[in-house]
Amino acid sequence: MDCIFCKIVNDEIPGQLLLRDEYVCAFRDINPVAPSHVLIVPNKHVDSIDSLSTEDAGLAGKLLLAVKEIARMENIASSGYRVIVNNGVDGHQEVQHLHIHVIGGAPMQHQLG
Ligand code: AMP
Repeated sequence: MDCIFCKIVNDEIPGQLLLRDEYVCAFRDINPVAPSHVLIVPNKHVDSIDSLSTEDAGLAGKLLLAVKEIARMENIASSGYRVIVNNGVDGHQEVQHLHIHVIGGAPMQHQLG
């Protein structure tokens, strides 16, 4: 499968990796929209939230806990941050490997959508 995030997870192309464990990886977004912009991905290929199965409940929890860990590592836990998961066409998901954006280090704009 030709998936850019699988390639980062598998060290086939370079990424600015911040965290890696058995289940998830976190790396810096190549085109950051804020001082801190990190992507958290499952190590196994999952297309999107919509592709998660009930067997992935543990993995979904690992991804959320990695958000908390990244916020701590990036020193944005107390100042606050935004968590975004784009899903599908209307969500403007560009990379078809589930990823959580963790964005912070500056106040976010108020509006969503
Ligand atoms: P999305 O619209 O949620 O699918 O966002 C995809 C994100 O992946 C964008 O913010 C891109 O800047 C980011 N991205 C694409 N290619 C890479 C890469 N090779 N390394 C890090 N981030 C990437």
